[in-house]
Amino acid sequence: MSVRMVLLGPPGAGKGTQAARISERLNIPAISTGDIFRKNIAEGTELGKAAKSYIDKGEYVPNEVTNGLVRDRLHWDDAVEGFLLDGYPRTLDQVEELERMLDADGLSLDVAVEITADTEEIVKRLLKRATEQNRADDTEPVIRHRMEVYTAQTQPLVDVYRDMGLLVQVDGIGDIDEVTERIYAALSDKLGRQI
Ligand code: ADP
Repeated sequence: MSVRMVLLGPPGAGKGTQAARISERLNIPAISTGDIFRKNIAEGTELGKAAKSYIDKGEYVPNEVTNGLVRDRLHWDDAVEGFLLDGYPRTLDQVEELERMLDADGLSLDVAVEITADTEEIVKRLLKRATEQNRADDTEPVIRHRMEVYTAQTQPLVDVYRDMGLLVQVDGIGDIDEVTERIYAALSDKLGRQI
């Protein structure tokens, strides 16, 4: 199905997990800037080197690095019919940049899904993930800092997408299948077709 969507939500809201499911269901690639950065860091590429110090501190990677990466990825063959962006855009500048990228190809977004979750629940989940996945940015002080950065820089995007008429909000608290069903229902409603 041709759907162009972005997934918003604080760190630990479950974006990655839900993105994988939506991607399979809609047959569109899930493009996670965080995953792309981590893969590049693991492989020691130039991109990885440019991103690492920011990520380790819980800061956002500069736009010069991030925008080019997304622009390139959106032009892969698998994204022609649609895509799900997870973790991009994260700032108002990135929202505008994404609009420009799509505009240049005569395209536009169909929907922005926000997964909501309470801060303390999220910190608990991230600390659990820290022990499971050993992510360098999942220590408590860095998690708290990422939450602050999210609130200051990314939370305002919710209003922007609401004003654009693209926003749907889904409660991210509950078990994974339940949240997935909520997302499918919200998407079906917004897109006007059963998914
Ligand atoms: P989470 O949503 O749990 O914070 P992600 O895997 O989405 O984790 O991102 C991890 C880190 O990668 C972010 O804290 C940030 O440093 C960097 N990053 C990911 N996407 C972007 C982006 N669009 N702009 C800037 N930095 C980004």
